[in-house]
Amino acid sequence: MPELPEVEVVRRGVERWVVGRRIESVQVLDARSVRRHEAGPVSFGHELDGAVVADAVRRGKFLWLPLTAAHGAPPQEALLVHLGMSGQLLVKDAGLPDEKHLKVRLGLSERPGTPAELRFVDQRIFGGMLLDRLVPTGDGAPGGRSATGAPLVPARAAHIGRDPLDPAFDAERFHDRLRRRRTGLKRALLDQSLVSGIGNIYADEALWQARLHWARPTDTLRRPETMRVLGAVREVMDRALAAGGTSFDSLYVNVNGESGYFARSLNAYGRASLPCPRCADEGRSALIVREQFMNRSSYRCPVCQRTPRNARF
Ligand SMILES: [Zn+2]
Repeated sequence: MPELPEVEVVRRGVERWVVGRRIESVQVLDARSVRRHEAGPVSFGHELDGAVVADAVRRGKFLWLPLTAAHGAPPQEALLVHLGMSGQLLVKDAGLPDEKHLKVRLGLSERPGTPAELRFVDQRIFGGMLLDRLVPTGDGAPGGRSATGAPLVPARAAHIGRDPLDPAFDAERFHDRLRRRRTGLKRALLDQSLVSGIGNIYADEALWQARLHWARPTDTLRRPETMRVLGAVREVMDRALAAGGTSFDSLYVNVNGESGYFARSLNAYGRASLPCPRCADEGRSALIVREQFMNRSSYRCPVCQRTPRNARF
């Protein structure tokens, strides 16, 4: 599943190649990919046709493209793109063959030297597109990471918490809310209403870096520990973004969820029975363990992420 850094790579690609262009044709090849658009696929096409893509915005793993009916008018609507498990946005020349799982094709106004189509490809159909109205953000800050910084968010994404890379993320408030919960730390990190955009991989990597156990009771967290784990989340995500940087320059705006470029630099996630890199550096021998967590797995080092008292599994 694509995580925040992969979605940000896509957002940057859309910002570079698509923003400022008019949508001149809409072709829905599979109605299932616009099933969340309540007015149906025909209406989806009519509403989108002729709109200008004004921006590319991301909050957590939510990505949306604010649209204007005419240049200069403020956007009132946005194209919300759910990448789901396997969704991709590709910028392609019109003549190139269709991808096997091509679902929606948007023809873009001409711009010399850039491809003419934005394609939504989705093998497993958990993703999709829909049009939604934009509403003001509750705190008056920009909706998310974007080029224009407009303080707007799609109504359907308004409940999503800000992500730790967002300059408007409120770390103090996050700490207070953590302290009021009676839950485990990883469960809280994955709760999109508390903080968005942290998936299983980044939670495990950040907890490893912060030397905290995933079942640490959140009501026992001290402020420096919360700041440590937030700092670790940001660092791990920044590293993934830097590693994904090469794809910004290609004509291929892509996310495949595999994070292959990043996998080589993981310290804990997916490394069961392999040595903990920090312990190895410091002359100890410790092997990463894999544990059951919410029908998934958690990876940690039993030496530098010791089980806390009153652990909340
Ligand atoms: Zn260790």
